[in-house]
Amino acid sequence: MTIQALKGFKDILPDEVGTWQWLESMARNVFHRFGFEEIKVPILEKTELFARSIGESTDIVEKEMYTLIDRNGESITMRPEGTANVLRAFIEHGLHVRKPLQKLYTIGPMFRHENPQKGRLRQFHQLSVEVLGTNNPMVDAELMAMAWVLLQEFGLSASLEVNSLGCPQCRPQYKEALVSFLKGNKNDLCEDCRRRTLTNPLRVLDCKKEKCRARYQEAPSILDYLCPSCKEHFQATEKGLQTLSIPYTINSFMVRGLDYYSRTTFELITDTLGAQSAVGAGGRYDGLIEQLGGPSLPGIGFAMGMERLVLMLSQQKKDPFHQEIDLFVAVLGNTAQETGFILIHAIRRKGLRAVMDFEGRSLKSQMKQANRHNARYTLILGQDEIDKKEGVLRNMATKEQLPVSLAGDIGSWCDAVISITKTQ
Ligand code: ATP
Ligand code: MG
Repeated sequence: MTIQALKGFKDILPDEVGTWQWLESMARNVFHRFGFEEIKVPILEKTELFARSIGESTDIVEKEMYTLIDRNGESITMRPEGTANVLRAFIEHGLHVRKPLQKLYTIGPMFRHENPQKGRLRQFHQLSVEVLGTNNPMVDAELMAMAWVLLQEFGLSASLEVNSLGCPQCRPQYKEALVSFLKGNKNDLCEDCRRRTLTNPLRVLDCKKEKCRARYQEAPSILDYLCPSCKEHFQATEKGLQTLSIPYTINSFMVRGLDYYSRTTFELITDTLGAQSAVGAGGRYDGLIEQLGGPSLPGIGFAMGMERLVLMLSQQKKDPFHQEIDLFVAVLGNTAQETGFILIHAIRRKGLRAVMDFEGRSLKSQMKQANRHNARYTLILGQDEIDKKEGVLRNMATKEQLPVSLAGDIGSWCDAVISITKTQ
């Protein structure tokens, strides 16, 4: 019996990889323009890191983490998101000492034991960014503006929804009002929500069940409970978005699925992905660095789901991401094969992407292969061409056949081929 991948774990095949590489390089380009630097952090961390940051009574920590006991008896977890382990690294290496404002991004896989569906996997990938060391609302606006620019440059659109979750000073009052609303509506709520009314009431607003969601339309709004400084922060954040002409709407019921958020939270919502409508999300987490044993510094970040971005791109039916090669060398006969072997090595060292056939196939079948490789050019090389010191270079798009000099040594053959492929 053959072995198949685990449920919710997906291979990204060569046909699709071009899109992924394109997304990654576009994202890096935007991040660098906004002053972000890359950080690479481990996939495995101590379980405690996620329990302490994401929150004990969140979906992620309660039921979605890939946690195992390693050979030394230590509980370790495959990261379900990027913020906690970037912060762990930030604290461990005292990055704030070197530079008071840290703008960091990381790109890579995350793991959550969820119910796999379209756009929802157990191993998925995020573009994840953090700004550490400032609570200035202009930074909140700037970060959302960057998320918006990123989508624009991907050629995608999503609507930006913004909220404030207040701070430890004002949230308790809201919690109280919410709990009394939830208790009054107890009979209409699902079991999870009833339980969370007692353990973590804000969490209920994140419930995905239609019946609960309908009820919560009438729940009190957190924005009516913000303390003066949170209110001021939210207003300034909004003003920043308006100044940069970033379109947004306010959604006062957005709580996000992680406990560490305070003040600004936001989501990028699309109507093209069915139930999986969030293509990106994030928010401010001012107490988190300190809570993890670090300095008392504020932070804000967001993550975008790459699988969902790839799905959105594929819906546009644009196909600009073909991997292509510059040259396919079609060889006919043993001598040609040996010469081709040397030539292709030299040509690769000069910077061209080149492939050849080693199986002694017919010319027709080699031309077919050249097309499958998306070759821009094919060099036809047989005994005749070697004897005449002149080969044929076929432009695969225009089907034009150009003579190419095979005089002198292999180095000059390379130059002759390269000069044609570069000029056309
Ligand atoms: P959702 O509401 O869709 O479950 P979330 O609130 O759990 O998302 P975050 O933890 O904020 O999401 O992660 C940010 C982004 O990562 C999401 O907006 C989404 O695009 C992507 N994402 C989250 N979970 C998954 C998953 N299981 N599979 C694919 N992408 C995901
Ligand atoms: Mg989720």
